[in-house]
Amino acid sequence: MVHRRAKHKTIKICPSCQSTQISPILGGILGPRYVCEACGYSGALILEQDLPDDVE
Ligand SMILES: [Zn+2]
Repeated sequence: MVHRRAKHKTIKICPSCQSTQISPILGGILGPRYVCEACGYSGALILEQDLPDDVE
């Protein structure tokens, strides 16, 4: 059996310092927001990058 994932796996990147240490802030009424643990940036704007699937 071959498992296929419909979802692309992505990583979130800080637009300020390009760190990937991004944590989502849940519960915002204006939509999802994120905070960068590296530089302290927070906001709705975040960069996302596709991760290549692991090949076994
Ligand atoms: Zn940052």
